[in-house]
Order: sequence, then C-alpha cells, then structure tokens
Amino acid sequence: MDLGLKGRWALVCASSKGLGRGCAEALAAEGVNLVLNARGAEALEATAAALRQAHPGQEIRCVVGDISLPAVQAAALAAAPQLDILVNNAGGPPPGDFRDWEREHWLAALEANMLTPIALIKAVVDGMAARGFGRVVNITSGAVKAPIDVLGLSNGARSGLTGFVAGLARQPRLAGANVTINNLLPGAFDTERLGKTMAASAERSGQALDQVRQQRAQGIPARRFGTAAEFGAICAMLCSAQAGYLTGQNILLDGGAYPGTF
Ligand code: NAP
Repeated sequence: MDLGLKGRWALVCASSKGLGRGCAEALAAEGVNLVLNARGAEALEATAAALRQAHPGQEIRCVVGDISLPAVQAAALAAAPQLDILVNNAGGPPPGDFRDWEREHWLAALEANMLTPIALIKAVVDGMAARGFGRVVNITSGAVKAPIDVLGLSNGARSGLTGFVAGLARQPRLAGANVTINNLLPGAFDTERLGKTMAASAERSGQALDQVRQQRAQGIPARRFGTAAEFGAICAMLCSAQAGYLTGQNILLDGGAYPGTF
C-alpha cells in the first residue's frame, strides 16, 4: 500500500538508534526526506549514511545535539524547507525511588519528555495546518497506561504530555486542517535501552543475562520483544495520507502485555 508520503519532510528526533531509527527507516522507505537527530555524532552519521545508501534520491540531513536544548531544536526545525511530519522522541528518564529525586531530576524529565515535544509541536503545527497536511507522532511509553513503579519520572512526565496532546489534537483548527497528533506507546522493544535495563537487572539478581531476557519475554503474550522495524512501520502508518481521521489516540504496541479490555 502506498502511504502517500513521497517527497514529504520529516524531523525524527533521537533517531540514530532504536525506535527513533526504526521510524526514520520506515519513513525513508516511503520516500520521505529526513532530518535526523541524536547527541552522538558518530552513530548519527552512520545511520544517515545507511539511509542515504538505501534511498539515494532522498535528502537525509543530520542535526547533532541534545533535542531538549532550544538551540538544537531551532537547528533541527531549520534543517528542512518545511516539516510535514514530526516524530518526537528522546531518551527516557532513569529509574529510581522518588525519595531520591530532587526538583532538578523532575525538571530534567519534564524538559526531555514533555516540554521539548510541546515546543516542537508549537513550532510546526500551525504551518502544517496552513498547508493542509501534518502528522505528529510522540513516542511515549506503555508506562503511561500501566505505570511502572521505578519509572516514576517517566510515568509523570509522559502523562503530562499525553494530557496536553489529548486537548490539542482535538482543536478544530488542527484536526479540521488534516493535522493529526497521536502517541505511540512502546512496551518492550529490543533496543540498546532495553538491553541496558536487562543487563542491570541481571547484575542485581546474579542471573545470567540470557535467563533474564527469556523470563522477561515469557511474560509477554507474544513471547518476544518487539523490533524497531515493527515500531517504525506503525509510525509510518500513522503518518500516512490515509490516516487523516485518526487523531488524539494513544496506541499501545506491546505484544499483548497490557491486560485490560480497553
Ligand atoms: P535507545 O535504543 O537507547 O535509543 C535512543 C536514541 O535516542 C539514540 O539514538 C540516542 O542517541 C537518542 N537520544 C537519547 N537522548 C537524546 C536527546 N536528549 N537528544 C537527542 N537524541 C537523544 O532507546 P529506545 O529503546 O529507542 O527508546 C526510545 C524512547 O522510547 C525512550 O524515551 C524510551 O524510554 C522509550 N521506551 C522504550 C521502550 C523499549 O522497550 N525500548 C519501552 C518504553 C519506552 P544519543 O545517545 O547519541 O543521543
């Protein structure tokens, strides 16, 4: 199915690895020109080089830096002639006990996982509405629906974004102008981040890493972790021309892990 995205421009934040890269790859496969971003220049350039090789007719640009910094946001926004698609993403906040978190820990989580996506959305949606096409996808977390105790910073900051987006997406000046805003909620995906979390838990429990991986996967009805390519494919679908009537939704991709009916 042609998703109707050829020639569009997308900014995919935090996209040198993992879920962000999966989204960038899937959009590139649909003929989308890309602005990629990450803090580490080497991995970002390697991802860009792979995408340029696979899609020689398309523009693949890079903006190095922490997307929560206003100067990096400005550079990322300026790197494309206009933005038709925005994929918001950043590293997740660290786990821990809320008794150990001070105001600065909360501010860092809010900055990366709530205020940065809101600032980027603010910068692009009115232009998208004026042009009659816009797609915003926020990568949040399954923890928005089923909070994970040790990820309190993530539960809180991402829920703030989710509540804000629920109101914004329903503004007729956006929804009525073919601008959609949706959240994609990953469960367990086989990325570097998940690998690090499991390595830490193997070390804590004294179990072998393989055993920890297997146990975790067995707890998911799909009996496996998701892949970045699967995640990217759903992101591209949300960005498609055909998805113009799908807005303000929270879409959980978790292999059936969330146990509720709704
Ligand atoms: P990952 O494999 O660690 O990849 C993270 C990517 O984001 C890298 O390209 C990293 O590059 C970049 N990045 C991180 N912080 C950044 C920042 N401040 N500015 C710019 N780029 C940044 O992580 P992932 O698994 O894809 O996770 C992506 C998001 O989904 C995270 O917020 C994570 O908490 C959330 N999530 C993931 C899962 C999962 O199972 N994987 C589940 C639930 C939620 P640099 O380090 O070079 O900047």
